[in-house]
Amino acid sequence: MTTNYSAEQLWQMDKDHFIHPYTDFTTFAEEGSQVISQADGMHITDTTGKSYLDAIAGLWCVNIGHGRKEMAETISEQVLNMQYYNPFGHSTNEPGSVLAAKLAELAPGDLNKVFYTCGGSTAVDTAIRLVHYYNNIRGKNNKKQIISRNNAYHGSTYVASNITGIHGCKSNLDRIADSWINHISAADMFHRPKGAENLSEAEYTQFLADEFENRIVQLGENNVAAFIAEPIMGAGGVLVAPAGYHQAMHAICQKYDILYIADEVVTSFGRLGDFFASKSVFGMQPDIIITAKGISSGYIPLGAAIISDRIWDVVSDPKTGGGALTMGYTYSGHPVACAAALKNIEIMERENILDHVKEVGPYLQEQIKTLSDLAIFGESRGSHLMLGLELVANSSTNEPFPSEVGIASRVFEHCRNAGLIVRPVGNTIVLSPPLIISKAQVDQIVSTIREAINLTMLDLANEGLL
Ligand code: PMP
Repeated sequence: MTTNYSAEQLWQMDKDHFIHPYTDFTTFAEEGSQVISQADGMHITDTTGKSYLDAIAGLWCVNIGHGRKEMAETISEQVLNMQYYNPFGHSTNEPGSVLAAKLAELAPGDLNKVFYTCGGSTAVDTAIRLVHYYNNIRGKNNKKQIISRNNAYHGSTYVASNITGIHGCKSNLDRIADSWINHISAADMFHRPKGAENLSEAEYTQFLADEFENRIVQLGENNVAAFIAEPIMGAGGVLVAPAGYHQAMHAICQKYDILYIADEVVTSFGRLGDFFASKSVFGMQPDIIITAKGISSGYIPLGAAIISDRIWDVVSDPKTGGGALTMGYTYSGHPVACAAALKNIEIMERENILDHVKEVGPYLQEQIKTLSDLAIFGESRGSHLMLGLELVANSSTNEPFPSEVGIASRVFEHCRNAGLIVRPVGNTIVLSPPLIISKAQVDQIVSTIREAINLTMLDLANEGLL
């Protein structure tokens, strides 16, 4: 949609009325927003006409790239055909049914049942409700504790934000569920807790697994319902677990009849080279997978909780008191969103985008390491097209920059001036580009970040901060 408003009018209306997510209201009141008005392929353009290489795929989601005509046609066709009718009870729609079957085909093992939501947070809430419901029906009414991790991000609805483990996301948040939501350590090779600094990768996995098992024992195995984890923590700063971690945590879940919820909102739909990463990349079969974002490449909001036959058999069985779910969103299985997701998957398959990710992803991870000669390079980490570059005040001791320095935001500003959008998270620069990125664009990203870091170091030196 284009309006007849001038860039200035748009800026003003936005500043006066649009409450932006995760935004500092003080700086916002002074600066307002950059209005993005066009997007095509790997690029976005603002109302001043300046174009940028989008190295964060909107927000980890525009996996097939911006502005695909085919997507617009599919969406328009579905709107003209049948834009909405409710999915409650016994009515359904064609794209919703076909997509559910497709997701069951793509998801690992017996994950064959799909509950649609409007995004990731609502899918997390849905999964938690299902887990509790499952245990109520099994007569395990006390089995309600959820174990999450520090630095995890699971969304912004009330329960999802309580499950989230990033402290910065929880200011003035009422801890409505402290009696049944717990956090254990993040699986984070770079910032290990005291006592784990010098452990080998295998020993660190064991250390984290022991912490998990001890927490279960402390809470009582009959009280613990589920463990929830992102395969690679995204919003926490692209934190990568030590080898074997997810398998070890899964084995403990199985030992104590605890469900494993894999939050694949970021890692599904190609970012790690497969439709879902849990099984193919991390060798582990979850009981529930949460997906959103890349499922429709952000063309239309959509999310889903995909659950196992094992759970479904219990919750759908009238003999045990199951048989009906008293929950549902007006837009569960929205036909336009499901049609967009089906087209998105078709494009990924037709263009062999997953194979492309398997080639260009390792190239990105390798090329970013060429920046390690820079004095403030701490570590680069990630997998395929999910990358975090952490900046440190001292690269031999890995001493962090004080948060007041806002190191990643400074680099972000220099990148933006040079026509590149990255995402600052704490002291880390996050990259999650559309999956269609070329090697030449990877080179462009790496050289622009090099230049931006050099300019940042000059600024810091001028301010006496380096
Ligand atoms: N889980 C993870 C791992 C996420 O990264 C996000 C969003 N960044 C969410 C859940 C929440 O998804 P949404 O913003 O679509 O509600």
